[in-house]
Amino acid sequence: MKQSEKLPRCKICGKDFENGFKGFCSQTCYEVDLKNRIIDATKNDPSHTQKISKDC
Ligand SMILES: [Zn+2]
Repeated sequence: MKQSEKLPRCKICGKDFENGFKGFCSQTCYEVDLKNRIIDATKNDPSHTQKISKDC
């Protein structure tokens, strides 16, 4: 039984899962990835750099 090798792995929490949600183990992890993508997109958007122009 090499079942574990076939199971997809959640990119967020690293767990293997059988029935996930859109490529993640759960809807929660899917939403975490979604938020991370939005943060990345915001960082790369020049129109939003004004907010973080000051170095912390
Ligand atoms: Zn997960």
